[in-house]
Amino acid sequence: MRSPWQHLFHPANAGRYREAVGSAVDHLVDHLGETGGRPLTGISPREAAARATDVDLDRPIGDGPEALAELSRLWLDDAIWFHEPAAAAHLNCPVVIPALAAEVFISGVNSSLDTFDQSAGATFIERHLVDWTAARIGYDDRADGVFTTGGTQSNLQALLLARGQQEGRAPERLRIFASADGHFSVQKAARILGLGDESVVPVAVDVSRRMDPAALSRALGDAAAAGLTPMAVVATAGTTDFGAIDPLPEVAALAKAHGAWFHVDAAYGGGLLVSPRRRSWLAGIELADSVSIDYHKTWFQPVSCSALVVRDGATLGHVTWHADYLNPKDSAHPNQVDKSLQTTRRFEALKLWMTLRVMGADAIGEHLDTVLDLADAVAAELTAMPDIDVAAAPQLSTIVFRHVPGPDRDEDGLARHNAAIRAELFDDGRALVAATRVDGRAYLKLTLLNPIATVDDVLGVVAMVRETGERLQERPTAPRPRGGRLAVAR
Ligand SMILES: *Cc1c(COP(=O)(O)O)cnc(C)c1O
Repeated sequence: MRSPWQHLFHPANAGRYREAVGSAVDHLVDHLGETGGRPLTGISPREAAARATDVDLDRPIGDGPEALAELSRLWLDDAIWFHEPAAAAHLNCPVVIPALAAEVFISGVNSSLDTFDQSAGATFIERHLVDWTAARIGYDDRADGVFTTGGTQSNLQALLLARGQQEGRAPERLRIFASADGHFSVQKAARILGLGDESVVPVAVDVSRRMDPAALSRALGDAAAAGLTPMAVVATAGTTDFGAIDPLPEVAALAKAHGAWFHVDAAYGGGLLVSPRRRSWLAGIELADSVSIDYHKTWFQPVSCSALVVRDGATLGHVTWHADYLNPKDSAHPNQVDKSLQTTRRFEALKLWMTLRVMGADAIGEHLDTVLDLADAVAAELTAMPDIDVAAAPQLSTIVFRHVPGPDRDEDGLARHNAAIRAELFDDGRALVAATRVDGRAYLKLTLLNPIATVDDVLGVVAMVRETGERLQERPTAPRPRGGRLAVAR
């Protein structure tokens, strides 16, 4: 008899499962081979929106080729492909295959990592990975941590723990010190924690865009003099724009002297923990009370895969709440929910686990080293180009630069010019380049995370930027034939 629940994962439906997943993989692999070197098609938001909203969700089309064809039309035909070297904008990486195999198990088995009775061995796979990461940081066996959805959540939890250490202190007097180039999730966390925007004190950066310890010292001193409480100092190990690694030992010493929690946001630079050639760049990270690491950036894992690791596991108690039906105090079983902001939680750790078991940590670190070498080699070429202004030498894998077509452009003109270049490359689907601002001035940014990309590949993107810039320079006011795709002011 045919089950009425034939789409349910169940041994009776094994054939259907195999077929559905098998054809999904085949379909995806077909798309992989069809990008023709373009990371995107440049579909407009309006067109993409229309295709999705036109679908009548009350009229299913059933399994099979039609459903996949629809998916292609709505998304895959115009997706952004991170394995293409010309996708060089954001901290979203090409992914390694062992992690993709893990995804099959993560969703199929559907373990939930909140309690042992929903996850069994998965709980200990996650714990072993946390302990392993802690050992790489240089923590001793008091350390603990938990997988999170990303750096944003890790930073929030770290600051929540920091606030927990200040129990009894007036919340409006608590202050968080972070470099002016630190990640905006620190400000968001302060809001969520009810501390207010003014609780985050931006600390000036030096010429290499690293937190200036002298400025931090002054800011901490000023706060103390004003009767404020330094709740946390957040150092960044790899800022999003410049890859700058704050001077961790100096910042740690200042945080300690003022009794502040010391958090290191290593969302980007955390991959250096496995770098065979650059691990020393993170010296001092072991002095942190907590560390955020995004495996879904420099460890080539699919989104999401991230962790918060703390020096003293007891501090995780600030997020513990006992529920009679889930994690009562007298439970005979271990659980992870005591350590997490989430309750139901995907087994993201398995992706990293499979990657380490199949490829090994050194291989991940070598991939990262390759990408950092690539950034250096490309930046060296850019510095020699008369029409390219490089904002700073790369410190990790970003290159902040802009096209300067002639000597007589003012800042506004340069901003419009570079925004137009970026928009045109997006619209044409040739390259994905990011935009940012440096001290108020508009720049473009390459974020390199593809270890297969060559120097020539990336210089090809730069050549596109320059050619487009030249063309726009010749016809600065000519209307674009297919304008209005990427929303930028022109
Ligand atoms: C990416 C990033 C974050 C945010 O991490 P998500 O995983 O995107 O939530 C935080 N800090 C830094 C330095 C980052 O680069």
